[in-house]
Amino acid sequence: MPYPPVHLTLFVLLIVPLALYGFAQAVRQGKVQRRDWGHLLLLLSIGGFFSLFPDISAVWNLLVYGKLGGHCMIGSFPTHSLLFSSIALVSGILAGMLVYKQQNKALALGLFALATTLFHLLLDDLDSGVITYLYPVYNESFSLFTFLYTTPTNMGFLSYALAVAFGVFCLSLVLVMAYASLKYLGFGAKYEPFEPGNDEL
Ligand SMILES: [Zn+2]
Repeated sequence: MPYPPVHLTLFVLLIVPLALYGFAQAVRQGKVQRRDWGHLLLLLSIGGFFSLFPDISAVWNLLVYGKLGGHCMIGSFPTHSLLFSSIALVSGILAGMLVYKQQNKALALGLFALATTLFHLLLDDLDSGVITYLYPVYNESFSLFTFLYTTPTNMGFLSYALAVAFGVFCLSLVLVMAYASLKYLGFGAKYEPFEPGNDEL
């Protein structure tokens, strides 16, 4: 389990650098208004919060039981699971509907929140390899990066190569989800200020 500052640092270094670059360029060119700063702050707040979201179990256990307890569970419910991560998707969509009042942008914000939470799971997986991804369908924890715990000789070269490819695919998928969502919200390599469209709710 990387510590919260590590999660936040990797969020800044790997999820939002292009968005920050595009925004900085727009600031330099004098194209940014006060509303745009609010837009950036919203995305960073949501991304930062949901990149730590699965560890909310530690806060919960501290408040309710007075001790940190297990980092991955609230009671018997694993917070490091796809089911718990779906809260990020729903929360992001609801926040997006309030802020953008556009269905597509609300969905993009939901997917961005989901991507940051899934990124947390993958980082924890890389660190310890015990994530209950499929709870409650499958209650055992497992790793998507099995190649880290064996060698090509033990696993067989082809199986090992496939395991590496699968791990890289999972990481890439989450990063693409985050970057595509940010781009849709105007935070690509070139910042595009938010303009209310025709698909208002
Ligand atoms: Zn965690």
